[in-house]
Amino acid sequence: MEVTFFGTRGSLPVPGPRTVKYGGNTSCTAIRSARDTLVVLDMGTGAFALGQSLAARNPIKGHVLISHTHWDHIQGLPFFAPFFRPGNEWDIYAPRGLSGSLQETLSGQMQYTYFPLELEQLGATIRYHDLMEGTLTLDGITVQTQYLNHPAITLGYRLTADGVTVVHALDHEPFDHSLATGKGTIAGADRRHADFLAGADLVIHDAQYLANEYAAKMGWGHSTVEYVLHVARAAGVRRLALAHHDPQRSDEAIDEIVTRFKADEGPVELFAAAEAMTVNLFREERPAAGGRVSIGADHPRESPSTATIQPALSNQSVLMTAGEPALMDRLAGILRKDGIEVMTCESDSVVDAAQASRPSLILIVDGKNSGRALNSAKLIRSLEEPLGSLPIILAGEIDCNQSDEELEVIDRLVAPYTDNYARTRLRACLMRRACKWARPAVPVNEADRLAALHALNILDTPSDDLLESIINLATDIFDVPIAAVTLVDKDRQWFKASCGLAERETPRDESFCAHVVADPATTIVPDTLLDPRFAENPGVVGPPHLRFYAGHPIVLADGHCIGTVCIADIRPRRLPESELQRLAKIAELALQTILRLSPEHEHT
Ligand SMILES: [Zn+2]
Ligand SMILES: [Zn+2]
Repeated sequence: MEVTFFGTRGSLPVPGPRTVKYGGNTSCTAIRSARDTLVVLDMGTGAFALGQSLAARNPIKGHVLISHTHWDHIQGLPFFAPFFRPGNEWDIYAPRGLSGSLQETLSGQMQYTYFPLELEQLGATIRYHDLMEGTLTLDGITVQTQYLNHPAITLGYRLTADGVTVVHALDHEPFDHSLATGKGTIAGADRRHADFLAGADLVIHDAQYLANEYAAKMGWGHSTVEYVLHVARAAGVRRLALAHHDPQRSDEAIDEIVTRFKADEGPVELFAAAEAMTVNLFREERPAAGGRVSIGADHPRESPSTATIQPALSNQSVLMTAGEPALMDRLAGILRKDGIEVMTCESDSVVDAAQASRPSLILIVDGKNSGRALNSAKLIRSLEEPLGSLPIILAGEIDCNQSDEELEVIDRLVAPYTDNYARTRLRACLMRRACKWARPAVPVNEADRLAALHALNILDTPSDDLLESIINLATDIFDVPIAAVTLVDKDRQWFKASCGLAERETPRDESFCAHVVADPATTIVPDTLLDPRFAENPGVVGPPHLRFYAGHPIVLADGHCIGTVCIADIRPRRLPESELQRLAKIAELALQTILRLSPEHEHT
């Protein structure tokens, strides 16, 4: 794998005599795999030179992974020549920010007021993808994504191909500010960050400040060299590229930093990323890391990282324990901006409140009274699953000797922070949780399947009395509150008939029945909370709070599965074998009725 730096500067481009060696352009790195897959990490002003270097190659296919949409990471995008040539094909990926899709955000910086061309006028074929935490594959390169700690929603990327791994972690600040000194136990969210870097052959990391500069820069979302080296050593990283150099840092100053910290690098090979520098990485037999490498990163997350985000957030709720009223108001306001439901309780009633309200996250705001705050955390951890593993965030000046790991606190919000910083942290935590449920796979014959469904001309047609009766009968037979005839369309499931459901359609990503369509067989989920595919599905976490599901595929004579007959309950339950046959019979009845209703179907 070949890694070339085209921009290594943070915040602001600073060309000039002081920055000749390490470069003045902002963040941009190109990665090429042995299979010649091209991945561009960030498109700061360095992207201009990268674009020029690709001029001779035509047509080009490539991928762009953007850490976040702060200017220094996207400003080169409108000057990237390969975007202007028809015949080129690019996929651009970035975390969905706090407002708007990636395409909307990027076209914002190309509005007529700022730039003569609009995003839509780029000649190449460009596809935009909003990302969350998870895994994706780009022409043979596996990419894992994880949220970093920055005032904007920001993703780190871990790329593996040709037997080597590169991690790109810009921009990021220690979760626990005291780790900026480069000393202290790496725990909680910082441990998770170390796991993300674990065993990497190269880590390109934000290292904008030094520990003695950090006090004035706390909350700005950047790391110190001391923190980065501390984490890289703990994670068993092989080579560490300091990047996102501060605009004030001259070549001499960066040289001094490298000299000073190389003395302390240990097994990590440390250097400062410089413009036009190329690093070649080859698979190497390495001695075992002696227990320093945590196992976390060896198990890639299974959830896909490309997903719809709005539905995931809109069904989430946060339970907040009472604390300082001004802080509670502030945090509640921040959460409500994202449509998240906020409930409050006294800290001694946190167990009852959690059991009653089943929140997605517990926020302990019991600022000054650390004993009570820690007790609340302990009480939650002592509960049965799934409540016992609810994410807990401590907010406020909670001072204690007990480590976050002991209490399994996943994050701390320690002042000072801006509203957007807090919003980013809370949102990242909720979205991470929302990723845990599996979106349904798409069947291999999807295009033909959709054609067969659409040919029936049955979608969006008025309800039919006979089908409604069949569904009502199903609720009686199985003694369940919910039953439906579901048709799984391209992006939605549409209920041709239903009982006990408020909506006429829901997103396909959230659909249980789309799992049946992906693998057409009777599917029974006795308790959704115990099933990793569904435990945190929005329909389980939020209304109608499904606990039981059974679906039978509706399959046309040509073999295409168009939907299901399904039954569901808000209580877990079992379905005996004899009942399964009944469900199959009802599905057959539903299919015959649908075929009679279909204007296109030849009645025989
Ligand atoms: Zn930056
Ligand atoms: Zn930034």
